[in-house]
Amino acid sequence: MNIMEIFDTMEYGPAPEAANPGLAWIKEHQPFGLFINNKWVKPAGKQYIESINPSTGKPLARVAAASSADVDRAVAAARAAFEMWGKTPGHVRARYMYAIARHIQKHSRLLAVLESLDNGKPIRETRDIDIPLVARHFYYNAGWAQLMEQEMVGFEPVGVVGQIIPWNFPLLMLAWKIAPALAMGNTIVLKPARYTSLTALKFAEIMQEVGLPPGVVNILTGEASQVGEALVRHPDVNKIAFTGSTDVGRSIRRATAGSGKKISLELGGKSPFIVFDDADLDSVVEGVVDAIWFNQGQVCCAGSRLLMQENIADRLIAKLRERMEHLRIGDPLDKAVDIGAIVSPGQLKEIQRLVNQGVEEGAQMWQPSWACPTEGYFFPPTLFTNVSPATTIAQVEIFGPVLVAMTFRTPDEAVALANNTRYGLAASVWSENINLALDIAPKIKAGSVWVNCTNLFDASSGFGGYRESGFGREGGKEGLYEYAQPAWKTKAAQEFLIAIESTSANGAKSAHEDGSDEQSLAGEDNYQYGDDGTNGYHPVLPAIDRTPKMFIGGKQVRPDSGYSRDVYDARGRVIGQVGEGNRKDIRNAVEAAHAAGGWAIGTTHNRAQILYYIAENLSAREDEFARRVALQTGCTRADAANEVQVAISRLFSYAAWTDKYEGVVHRPPLRGAVLALPEAIGVIGIACPDEYPLLGFISLVAPAIAMGNTVVVIPSPQSPLSATDCYQVLETSDLPAGVVNIVTGDRDTLSQVLADHDDVDSMWYFGPLEGCQRVELASAGNMKRTWVSYGHPRAWLETVQGEGQEFLRESTQVKNIWIPYGE
Ligand code: NAD
Ligand code: MN
Repeated sequence: MNIMEIFDTMEYGPAPEAANPGLAWIKEHQPFGLFINNKWVKPAGKQYIESINPSTGKPLARVAAASSADVDRAVAAARAAFEMWGKTPGHVRARYMYAIARHIQKHSRLLAVLESLDNGKPIRETRDIDIPLVARHFYYNAGWAQLMEQEMVGFEPVGVVGQIIPWNFPLLMLAWKIAPALAMGNTIVLKPARYTSLTALKFAEIMQEVGLPPGVVNILTGEASQVGEALVRHPDVNKIAFTGSTDVGRSIRRATAGSGKKISLELGGKSPFIVFDDADLDSVVEGVVDAIWFNQGQVCCAGSRLLMQENIADRLIAKLRERMEHLRIGDPLDKAVDIGAIVSPGQLKEIQRLVNQGVEEGAQMWQPSWACPTEGYFFPPTLFTNVSPATTIAQVEIFGPVLVAMTFRTPDEAVALANNTRYGLAASVWSENINLALDIAPKIKAGSVWVNCTNLFDASSGFGGYRESGFGREGGKEGLYEYAQPAWKTKAAQEFLIAIESTSANGAKSAHEDGSDEQSLAGEDNYQYGDDGTNGYHPVLPAIDRTPKMFIGGKQVRPDSGYSRDVYDARGRVIGQVGEGNRKDIRNAVEAAHAAGGWAIGTTHNRAQILYYIAENLSAREDEFARRVALQTGCTRADAANEVQVAISRLFSYAAWTDKYEGVVHRPPLRGAVLALPEAIGVIGIACPDEYPLLGFISLVAPAIAMGNTVVVIPSPQSPLSATDCYQVLETSDLPAGVVNIVTGDRDTLSQVLADHDDVDSMWYFGPLEGCQRVELASAGNMKRTWVSYGHPRAWLETVQGEGQEFLRESTQVKNIWIPYGE
């Protein structure tokens, strides 16, 4: 192109960033080794894989392919390093992390070039977005390392963590994972995605440069089937953090079920981009470009569903097409290129397949008139109109530069359409009317909501999904809890293991079995049975039969099965019956819990009032509840009375928390604010522990409903009567029907139905290890959250273990609403 031609067309000339520094670095280092104990080591199986440059299709580098023997080696290195790193003072860890951030900045251009070469994404993005955010994550989390001792009192690192990341933001995903893990004192084995290992390997070199102690971070390149699976199943890994597809996330949930491994999953999405008719359409067009053509649309939170208010749809589509004609596709290292290459031929084929399917299903496809480069893996920006909401392209994550557009008429319709997906990662809302935008944001089931903006990320603001987009958050303070746990839990888990060993060794009987607790049984309850007559109480009248039914939708209903089960006292005598719940009862209860969803929208003041009222009504019947507890468990009257008092106090605690667990306002580096709101999860299934029939029930139900969830509760199967006694307390406390539903029966049978149920959003299970495993396995179906005890006991009477923030965090999921200021 000569100067006259440039003046004629006003076209951009090429502005290439030099590839040489990146290529030279590769040449110097390859074949790459695995990074274990701060050293480069050869893979045990002597296998290597090729990394390609997607914009040419040609080989770029040879990297090592680790096998399970290498995973063993790396985990052992991380375990050994944890002994020291886990005890290193926060300030020392902060210094290392600060150094890492600085070194990332020193090598920023090399990292940006390597990322573009290996992944195919435009240099403009790697240079201006990916790499600066990587540094930001290390700076931000260096701060949490510094503050951990003050701000995370009573918390400890989790141990050795396995981290598995995708190819779409290779170094940024690494930073999201490694920075908080290091800050909290964990050691790490990380597996980059098969196609994009290079920046992770450069990062390894940076750790050598800053002198991070050996074994704290280990990096294993290679195939998912070798490294990924071995890491997930490794018995000495305490946590798996995964970002990738929902299918693989599901398989990881299943593979780790019952193992006690902590997991966090950041999965796929099909995020709505909602445009109201009063939106600034020119901003909207630029927003759409950033939502779906950023990173070739290979973004988990891409705004891939454009929802337009009907009356502006034609105008917006015309503007979009015009803009699409001017998008520039080509060499990722060209600084004036908007769209680079798709990461791999397989991914390119998958995009093409879904686009073909969209056409077959009758949607109208439009692409700009210009052609893509023929070398390398390119796909043009694509727009579908005339899309019906149930079709494949409207439901399935395409993970490419493909936008599907649909229309709505009213705000309610927009919300319904937006939530018509199994995912819940992000959403973007466009309107010049702040009232409308802020009315819509809380109604959308998604972890991030961007108001008049899109695809904004920052280390200070948590990111993560609702529903099948996964669970756990990365970023913000909430992200730290993925890498830290209460110290008492580590201790309790160890003691529990020792206890199990000694019990199985000498076959000790429980106190109940050998009757040694006999004298503590509450004498005055014997009158109901009159079988021993030793207490000198002779009833004249038989007691009126009290048969608790189920409590569903605010009503006491008979069990569907028509069967009852006996309830025994501590001496093994029958003291009553409760209904034998079945699948049908659980379904009805879940339905009732859903119908009561309005509970979450009510004011926190109102919810707090009702919790106080429940406490008041329980207190009015203290003696009766204490007697019942003593009768069922055989504890002393004094202990039983204490359990009731603690239950009342616990209700007060959550009444107090209801309007005080409020979230925060983040100040990321932009003109604006991010509201981080803890929201109710939805319907929670709760299986209560055997011990503390009243306190166990109250300790779990109270935080859940305080935070706006509705619940289906399975009381202690051994001692269900304290929960069923609560029916009347609940009925007289103004609690709306359906907020608390109680189904008695076999804990495991009923938990299975709840864990399998697609309309249950979270499942808590406090019972034996095998039951925990079954719950975790079944929950993979709709990726519901789980909270299980792994058979460990908990000191329910104590405040540290029995109430507080842990319960509140399990009762909520954080939504981040981004609100930029200014015109
Ligand atoms: P993927 O699930 O195929 O792979 C992700 C990672 O998991 C890779 O490192 C891969 O090697 C590894 N892996 C694959 N199978 C495994 C197994 N059975 N056991 C252990 N590890 C295994 O996903 P992908 O194609 O690399 O990435 C695209 C997907 O990632 C998209 O669905 C996208 O939505 C999702 N994603 C989500 C986020 C988020 O934060 N929520 C971010 C980026 C990408
Ligand atoms: Mn590559």
